[in-house]
Amino acid sequence: MSIAGLDPTGGAGILADVCTFTAFGCAPAAAITAITFQNDRAVFGVEPLSADSIQAQVLAVVEQHEVLGVKVGMLPTAEAVAEVARLCREGKLPPPVVDPVMRSSSGYALVADDAVDELIRELLPQARLVTPNIPEAERITGLRIVDIEGMHSAAAAIRNMGAGSVLVKGGHLENAEQAIDLLYEGDSVSIHRGNWIANAKLRGSGCRLSSAITALLANGKSLQESVIEARIFVADQLVKTAASQSA
Ligand code: PLP
Repeated sequence: MSIAGLDPTGGAGILADVCTFTAFGCAPAAAITAITFQNDRAVFGVEPLSADSIQAQVLAVVEQHEVLGVKVGMLPTAEAVAEVARLCREGKLPPPVVDPVMRSSSGYALVADDAVDELIRELLPQARLVTPNIPEAERITGLRIVDIEGMHSAAAAIRNMGAGSVLVKGGHLENAEQAIDLLYEGDSVSIHRGNWIANAKLRGSGCRLSSAITALLANGKSLQESVIEARIFVADQLVKTAASQSA
C-alpha cells in the first residue's frame, strides 16, 4: 500500500508507486494524502486531504485486505502525519517505509514545516525504514552533510530518533561521481555505490526507490537484498529515461 500524494502525470507520487508495486508482482492499494497540480515543468499547487479522508481510505483497504507492506510518501500537514502515525501505532498498518518527502526537485514545498516536526516526533519512531535524501536528512537532524561521514552521522542520529533503519540517499552530494547511498540497519552500516547516470531527467526516483524496497520486503526479501534490488530497478529506469531523452 502506498500512502502518498497524487501527481496527475504519474511522474512521481502514488501513480509511480503503484507502477513500481506491480513491476514487482504486488497487488497495489493506495490512500491519497494530497492532490498536486504538476507536470515535468513545475508544481502549480497542492490541495491537502483531511486526516479523516486519509483514515477512511486506509480503513476501507485494511478491512478487506491484509496489507503486507506500506510505503508513506508526501504527508502535507501535521494532521495527516498524526493520523498515519496513529494508524501505525494502533496496529492497523505494519511498520512503514517512510520517504520523508519535503520538496519537489524544482524546489516547491510540498509539505508544511510543522508536518516535518510531527513526522520526526510521531512517525519516525514507527518506521521500518526511513529513506531521506541529503536535504531531508539535514532538515531532520539539523546536521550539514557534505560527505559519506556526514551521511553516516545523520543516519545514526535518525536511528536514535527511533527509526528501525535508515537509508540516506547521496544523490544530492556535491561533486558526486557515483550514486552513493548509506544503509544503517541495526548497528551495521553498508555503503551502496553505483554509476552516476548522467542526463536522466526522471522525476519521482525517490518515490520509486522507496516503493520498490517496500514491494521487495513484502515479497520476503531481507532489507539488504531489497535495497540492492531496488537500486538496480531505479538505475534501470534512469538508463531507459536517459536513452529515450537522447533519442
Ligand atoms: N509530487 C509528489 C506527489 C511526490 O511525492 C514527490 C516526491 O516524492 C514529488 C512530487 C517530487 O518529485 P520530484 O523530486 O521528481 O520533483
